[in-house]
Amino acid sequence: MRRLVTGLAGLGMLATVLTGAGTAASEPPHLPGGPCLQEDQNVSLSSVAGYDDVVRELDRIERTSQGRVTVASAGVSGEGRELYYATVGAGPTTFWLQARIHGNELHSTEAVLQILDHLASGSPDARLIRENLTVVVIPMYNPDGAEANIRQSTTPTRIDLNRDWENFAQPETVAFWKLWRDTAPELALDLHHMGQAPIVEGTNDLNQFQIGARSIDPSRMTAEQWLTNRQMTMASVEALDQYGLANVAHYPLIDITNAGLSRMLMGGTAPAGEQPAPQGLTTGAIFYEVRSVGQKSNGQLENLFRIPTMAVLRAAADGSLAQQDVSGYEDLPFASQEQCGRF
Ligand SMILES: [Zn+2]
Repeated sequence: MRRLVTGLAGLGMLATVLTGAGTAASEPPHLPGGPCLQEDQNVSLSSVAGYDDVVRELDRIERTSQGRVTVASAGVSGEGRELYYATVGAGPTTFWLQARIHGNELHSTEAVLQILDHLASGSPDARLIRENLTVVVIPMYNPDGAEANIRQSTTPTRIDLNRDWENFAQPETVAFWKLWRDTAPELALDLHHMGQAPIVEGTNDLNQFQIGARSIDPSRMTAEQWLTNRQMTMASVEALDQYGLANVAHYPLIDITNAGLSRMLMGGTAPAGEQPAPQGLTTGAIFYEVRSVGQKSNGQLENLFRIPTMAVLRAAADGSLAQQDVSGYEDLPFASQEQCGRF
């Protein structure tokens, strides 16, 4: 049996969302250095949302949303699966929320379905977000890779979809590029898992969350983009600090121009037959990397996606994101490359 969006959709999640308090008290004691999951570790998929679960859950949310959520397809995957996305809200700022571009990064899908379910609800913060934002939710960017439990696409080529925004070799990339261009999101958030779980530099604390403020060097961004990315980052980090279990570290400094977020910020590329988008269509685009582990702390892993995502959505909706202090950004620690479990 597959578990999907159960308890957290109700009062528990609402309390978490409203207070930011999370479920820290119910989590097991923190054990520095563990648990660890390596890339080749076998994790039971029986409790993880698969493609059919996504289809069923999107349908349920749309049907019960009283018209607040619409589900559509951006195109079809290499194997012919629909590339579903949901739209919630009618505000002037469009927010792109993307999960599972890497098929074997499991829990982001359920986390964004929980978020979508909440955004469809009658709660005050959901209403605030719907009034101010149009949120485009992609629960499973790479359904073929998800079903195969691999990082990449499967066909016509097996490649990393997050390195395909220059070549556009895959139908998924073409479809989502067009959706991005047509929806023109000001803000974008991309959810990932880490392949391993190192420690926070200078500590013995298991690093559970890495914040990706920059998929490209800031010199490739406009000043506004770099500021917005840091504001999204610090709004996320502050929410996680309140939650208290994340041991946040900065993602390693990278400069990957063919990643999706990178090209959302840079513009300049397009699939065959399309005009390249200009730079500046998207003002802020960051990513999260949450620790990977098996079933026992699925709820915590989903919290680690959901709590900062909701914080950024709220901050974008109420206008506080533009006032977000970024002075703490330079002090964010990095993760140590020491293998998890060494200590
Ligand atoms: Zn990833």
